[in-house]
Amino acid sequence: MIHHHDVIIIGGGLTGLRAALQIKDAGLDGAVISKVHPLRSHSVAAQGGMNASLGNVEGEGGVKDSWKNHAYDTVKGSDYLADQDAVELMCREAPRTVIELEHMGTVWSRLENGKIAQRPFGGAGFPRTCYAADRTGHNALHTLYENMVGREIPVYEEFYLTSLVIDEGRCVGCTALDIMTGEVHGFQARAVLLATGGFGRIYDRSTNALINTGEGASLALEAGAQLKDMEFVQFHPTTLYGTNILITEGARGEGGILLNKDEKRFMEGYAPRTRDLAARDVISRAMEQEIAEGRAYPGGYLYLDLRHLGPDKIRERLPGIRQIAMDFAGVDPIEEKIPVQPGQHYSMGGVDVGMGGATSIPGLYAAGECACISVHGANRLGGNSLLETVVFGRLVADKIIEDVSSINFTEEGPIKTAMINMDIKIGDILGREEGENLFQIREAMTRTMSQGFGILREKQEMQESLQEIKKLQKQLPRVSLQNSKRELNQALVRFLELEGMLLLSEAVARSAIAREESRGSHFRTDYPGRDDVKFLKHTLIDLKDDEMRVSYKPVKLGMFELEERVY
Ligand SMILES: Cc1cc2nc3c(=O)[nH]c(=O)nc-3n(C[C@H](O)[C@H](O)[C@H](O)COP(=O)(O)OP(=O)(O)OC[C@H]3O[C@@H](n4cnc5c(N)ncnc54)[C@H](O)[C@@H]3O)c2cc1C
Repeated sequence: MIHHHDVIIIGGGLTGLRAALQIKDAGLDGAVISKVHPLRSHSVAAQGGMNASLGNVEGEGGVKDSWKNHAYDTVKGSDYLADQDAVELMCREAPRTVIELEHMGTVWSRLENGKIAQRPFGGAGFPRTCYAADRTGHNALHTLYENMVGREIPVYEEFYLTSLVIDEGRCVGCTALDIMTGEVHGFQARAVLLATGGFGRIYDRSTNALINTGEGASLALEAGAQLKDMEFVQFHPTTLYGTNILITEGARGEGGILLNKDEKRFMEGYAPRTRDLAARDVISRAMEQEIAEGRAYPGGYLYLDLRHLGPDKIRERLPGIRQIAMDFAGVDPIEEKIPVQPGQHYSMGGVDVGMGGATSIPGLYAAGECACISVHGANRLGGNSLLETVVFGRLVADKIIEDVSSINFTEEGPIKTAMINMDIKIGDILGREEGENLFQIREAMTRTMSQGFGILREKQEMQESLQEIKKLQKQLPRVSLQNSKRELNQALVRFLELEGMLLLSEAVARSAIAREESRGSHFRTDYPGRDDVKFLKHTLIDLKDDEMRVSYKPVKLGMFELEERVY
């Protein structure tokens, strides 16, 4: 079956839904495709909040926040790799974006005077993070979803994007698997927006939802678009030991502190001024060092202590964190410390796009975590991603609305061909009776990525890990799913995911090996310093004839001069 819509939006997270609303309000027919119900998108799990320089809470010495302060913190946090024009745009748009969400229905936490509350966050010079207790993403995603239902925007729920269709250099639609029936559908569109989120699940210890496997990025790469800055993978300092469920930075924003096994507040030694609220890369590295030097608990964890905040504050501001700690670690933070360790959290890299969200393929756009625009550079500040999703969900939709006015639907031929090809491919995968085990390959990949491309990296280990990833790629065509049914075949979805994940793993690996310096989240023990002469540039990856190629493009500097980054 072929469906026709002016715009196909792939992804039902904050980015996709914000774009869908904008497209509908412009009088266009947009539809959302999502591999899960939109409310199960990873955006729903966001805890700590969204940054905007509302200035509702004064900084040190009674100074008021401004978008310029926000932009400065973001550029410094990025270790100067962010494009300053994109950062400026995002920070200028932030206050109206928070207010816009509130007008749509988001229930922000409040100050005594009734204004929207703001809490301190890592790497931020002012209390700037607006929040809805510790369930901000939940609140915001439900708001956008309700607005979408009200506007009767069509959603293809539990449809899995399988390919982007390119005709004469232009993206004219896509194919997607209806997971329920196993049927391949075609979608013809005047523009396609990728809003598919991050790819954290290529690592074994991740805070990400299991669905965060990055097809938007891998299919865009296969279709001929470029990926940017893939080596920059964020590790969050505080994930619950054992399960790696996130314990929000908001917990430290509210006053929580990190302790080692000697009960020492070790961050004082690494970031004397900002301590537990230094940027994430700085704290994660400090924790790795504490673990490596034997000052952590057996198994490699440290403690996050919230007890001094008192029961009232914990219950009011961090109810979700308390629940998670009790349910998954058997620890009540009112009375006990929470065992934590760093874990993969965010993908700074993604599909290379310009300021309007356009990729190098006409008709194909990307926004949110799957894109790299780039506002986060080498290290994202907490609270800036939720902001990015809603700001650029709206702005990229505006660009699409402008661009499609001159684009007409073409003939259906290329979509039909893509559907037939995908159908043959799926038939072939399901037809293999004997073969390798899919989940063993997936596990080997996540383990390899954590070992080779974790917080601390070094040439030889990275090269060996890349060879392992290449080996796993070769094993993939020999996998047998042991389930040949078309309907509700989750093993088939996992297989298709794994194909893309192995490609993204290789992109991370090649980008990381080529960057012989340390910047933000990319720390090389063999090149421990930042090298602005050789590497103040974005890494690009493209794929031609099955070969990945690394190239570079300049960073857009602006009003902030390069500085050494200290916290
Ligand atoms: C636990 C956690 C807490 C966080 N807390 C914060 C926070 O407090 N503040 C902050 O700023 N950031 C936070 N982040 C980061 C932030 O939440 C995400 O970066 C952001 O929500 C991503 O939104 P998105 O719309 O780009 O993608 P997502 O919300 O991940 O949505 C992706 C969508 O794409 C769809 N999709 C993907 N692949 C396919 C496919 N093949 N076919 C069809 N559909 C597909 C999915 O179904 C989903 O609907 C947090 C992240 C995590 C993991």
